[in-house]
Amino acid sequence: MKKKIYLIAPRGFCAGVTRAVDTVTLTLEKYGAPVYVKHEIVHNKHVIDELQDKGAIFIEDLNDVPNDRPLIFSAHGVSKKITNQAKEKKNEIIDATCPLVTKVHIQALKFYNRGYDLILIGHKNHPEVEGTMGQVPEEKITLVENIKDVENLKLKNDKIAYITQTTLSVEDTSMIIKELKKKFPHIESSPKEDICYATTNRQNAVKEFASACDAFIIVGSNNSSNSNRLVEVAKNSGCLKSDLIEDAKSLNVDEYKNYKSIGISSGASVPDILVMSVIEKLKDSYELDVEEMTLDKENVTFRIPSSLR
Ligand code: SF4
Repeated sequence: MKKKIYLIAPRGFCAGVTRAVDTVTLTLEKYGAPVYVKHEIVHNKHVIDELQDKGAIFIEDLNDVPNDRPLIFSAHGVSKKITNQAKEKKNEIIDATCPLVTKVHIQALKFYNRGYDLILIGHKNHPEVEGTMGQVPEEKITLVENIKDVENLKLKNDKIAYITQTTLSVEDTSMIIKELKKKFPHIESSPKEDICYATTNRQNAVKEFASACDAFIIVGSNNSSNSNRLVEVAKNSGCLKSDLIEDAKSLNVDEYKNYKSIGISSGASVPDILVMSVIEKLKDSYELDVEEMTLDKENVTFRIPSSLR
């Protein structure tokens, strides 16, 4: 049976990931190996393996960084506590935090300085959430992950504002926001969406074309928030099968033998070569008709940190 493959765009690297990966590469060129990175620079195993081979060392504990080597903060951003700890160690700090995450940090601080209590919608333990929570004193910010958390919220301050993680499900988040507004009609928010353009565009594109697909393959790593959300969007849009796969090696082609039309997209930290190798592997087993489906063109770019320009 000939299979129709819908190759969805936009997919893959966003501007924040491109900037973060370039930042590590340029730091290696400028300072030589090794360079240290707080947390995985982006959540993709292949990107991490490649940078490790070039001399990047990914750490969680700043005590593992020798004082004379540069230290890079990942695209997810870090808390004030980590920034201060790094400054005390006197390492050369290079900040690869995505500017759209920094925008949320700045907004959190603005609300805090005006006396607001903050609600952060996000996923517990995600590094971006830890970084954003850590922009203000702990007692001034509360994490909510779902509607149940909103129901349990008890806040004394009349001045309340919400902010969100940048890589959430657009639909789930809007339901949580609706509940927050019901419970706290006076609640305020960032002037612009905190969920970033790349997350929104990738979700919209999967949603738009999922109805034409029996199955959907999202290429991405398990720990990638935005990739996981794309799997959910495809599932919620009616695809009978929707899977997250790391790469061609983890693709079991037999699982797709009964599906006639398959959508393929990828998370914001996935090199496109991984998507192409998935299609190549499918081609080894099936006759394919591949069609590129583009919902929107993206032209966002971010400048690399000034010390590397
Ligand atoms: S997914 Fe969005 S917030 Fe995250 S790095 Fe990309 S552009 Fe920045």
